[in-house]
Amino acid sequence: MTSYQFENLNITVNQQGDVATYTFEGEMTERFDFKKIEITKCKEVIFNMSQIRSFNSCGIREWVFFMKELEEVDSLSFEECSVSTIDQFNMVPATLGVGIVNSFYAPYYCEKEDKPLERLIHIDSSANDLSQGQAPILKCESCSMELIFDAIEESYFMFITGALSRSA
Ligand SMILES: [Zn+2]
Repeated sequence: MTSYQFENLNITVNQQGDVATYTFEGEMTERFDFKKIEITKCKEVIFNMSQIRSFNSCGIREWVFFMKELEEVDSLSFEECSVSTIDQFNMVPATLGVGIVNSFYAPYYCEKEDKPLERLIHIDSSANDLSQGQAPILKCESCSMELIFDAIEESYFMFITGALSRSA
């Protein structure tokens, strides 16, 4: 296992056979020096983005340069993208690069408990709803009330149009 540390950002790389998983954790800022990251020769590259809390504008710039470096990778996919990662994919499409999103967190809200929560959505298993720009209908784990999707579907699922057409 290799790991990189850039102030508030931690990156660990796990290689298993032909698959390399990079796990990002923390804040994406100007401290992120993409040139220091060794790009694996593995055929399949997975970026786990579940612990990325925020991007600032310099961080977005660095990240876009990093995505350009990764254009040659055979297969790049993003999994468990945090809400803040999805916001970037929607606002700055270049942050997605050649990557495909497999799963991501979406903001929901339980009205009964007055509680915001995030739920993991897998694009494959929710493709029907997502292709129509609709949030999957989910129930609260603690009170089984139907949850309210807590973002604007049209803008939150914007990145998916590309993901679905590429996997079809
Ligand atoms: Zn509830």
